[in-house]
Amino acid sequence: MKNKEVASLLYEIADLLEIKEVEWKPRAYRKAAQNIEALSEDIKEIWKKGELDKVPGVGEGIAKKISEFLKTGKSSYLKKLKKNIPIDVEDLMNVPEMGPKTVKLLYKKLKVKNIKDLKRVAKKGKISKLYGMGEKTEKEILEGIKTVEVSKKRFLLGFMLPNIREIEEKLKKLKEVQLISVAGSVRRKKETIHDVDILIASNNPVKVTEYFINLGDVKKVLAKGPTKSSVKLKDNLQVDLRIVSKESYGSALQYLTGSKPHSIKLRKIAIKKGLKLSEYGIFKKKKKIAGRTEKEVYNKLGLPYIEPELREDRGEIEAGLKKKLPKLIGYGDIKGDLHVHSKWSDGNNTIEEMALAAKKLGHSYLCICDHFGNLRIANSLNERRLLKQIKEIDKVNKKLSGIRILKGVEANILPSGKIDVPGKLLKELDIITAGVHSGFKSGEASMTKRIVSVMDKINILNHPTGRLLQKRKGYELDLSKVFDSAKDHDVAIEINSFPNRLDLDDVNSRAAVDNGVKLVINTDSHSINQLVYMELGIGVARRGWCGKKNVINTLPLNKILKKF
Ligand SMILES: [Zn+2]
Ligand SMILES: [Zn+2]
Repeated sequence: MKNKEVASLLYEIADLLEIKEVEWKPRAYRKAAQNIEALSEDIKEIWKKGELDKVPGVGEGIAKKISEFLKTGKSSYLKKLKKNIPIDVEDLMNVPEMGPKTVKLLYKKLKVKNIKDLKRVAKKGKISKLYGMGEKTEKEILEGIKTVEVSKKRFLLGFMLPNIREIEEKLKKLKEVQLISVAGSVRRKKETIHDVDILIASNNPVKVTEYFINLGDVKKVLAKGPTKSSVKLKDNLQVDLRIVSKESYGSALQYLTGSKPHSIKLRKIAIKKGLKLSEYGIFKKKKKIAGRTEKEVYNKLGLPYIEPELREDRGEIEAGLKKKLPKLIGYGDIKGDLHVHSKWSDGNNTIEEMALAAKKLGHSYLCICDHFGNLRIANSLNERRLLKQIKEIDKVNKKLSGIRILKGVEANILPSGKIDVPGKLLKELDIITAGVHSGFKSGEASMTKRIVSVMDKINILNHPTGRLLQKRKGYELDLSKVFDSAKDHDVAIEINSFPNRLDLDDVNSRAAVDNGVKLVINTDSHSINQLVYMELGIGVARRGWCGKKNVINTLPLNKILKKF
């Protein structure tokens, strides 16, 4: 799908236009970009049919730019804009706190063109002296630069996964490929990944390698050999391919999946048993005694099979030796999504579209939780509109079968320790979810108090620490107090499956479950094609040793209805 590429082109144009102070146009480009991101159909297919003008927000001018880009992979308009503005806007805007307005201001006043310039002037304290900036902003910019520098080396799993799966599918179709698996941190479902490892069993490595290095997405071939090759994709992700024989597939998969600390411990166990474990198999003296499957490898070491998500050396080997590994929640165990948005607030699809898409994924319920209140979140609901939405949900429910839409809301947890939805409205709803969407920097004690004081009014605590991966650390919070309070008030704590949130994270999810707290895995989708992010949230839960019973939305519809 070209949708993401086209959307980022339009976003970049919008930012540049805003810096050039062109009126209204940036908004038009952004709206079109959002709509294209939300499409479930490939924009390229739409273009081929000559139907670009049917995409909401795409007028003649924007359609022309998309056509050119799809045809040539380039945009002369963007090139022209860039020539006029000698600033690396994309790079600078990666830094949190840097919007188009700030970029423009810093260019005009301090000649900042890129991150290097930005770092220099911030370190010299020049930014804080500008009108409207201050020392706090300057400090935040410096911290932001650090985050960007670190994150440049890693990718968000959720954004890369579709691409990785596509490559896997293409390779799988080759008749020379006998077995294939993605290994490494992707298989362990880490939130961010450095590169991708693919393992293949084949008796014709030359043919497979040739096909692999010529995939359409490949930008550069980094290495090419009979069993190992390595490429860089157009989006800069590195993919390594290993080809082995069927006889070593299991041990190679174990080796490539890692993690390193986990594998080192396994090797030590092998040595104690007088064996040798390597990527080629388990050997007794020179005789190979295992290696075909991972299960065989683990079993020969006196262990049950250990799920990839657990392989972080966080006690899984010890638990395995004692036969006390948890039974993890499965990727098919979720029965519904309890936190999604619709067009009624900042989502891109109607309630009905969301429900139909959820049904297609096999969900039997879906809770619409649009934003409410006076915060600066686009199009938040007020009392009148929420009541209207409730009626609309009744109407859609009558129309659809096989999926039940629940009535919910995403309230704001205000600094005062209250939620902003009036009490009488709460009675009309099935589920009350709430999250912190402002005032993140109040400090641990005050933030903990703020969250704990709304627990008696809500059912679900959304994205509980507020972190955004590669962008913003979570706010300071005493999670153990939040867990206690959640348990007292029977509030489920969310694992938000959005690729840059995944919050509660794996370690804290495990702590929550150990403390008897119930979790809920939601996608916080703002369009139909984000509903599949559920897999990422389940990955976090599995990394956090969670079972099916720990997660409320594994319950069937009748039990969920009873619960709320
Ligand atoms: Zn939220
Ligand atoms: Zn939300």
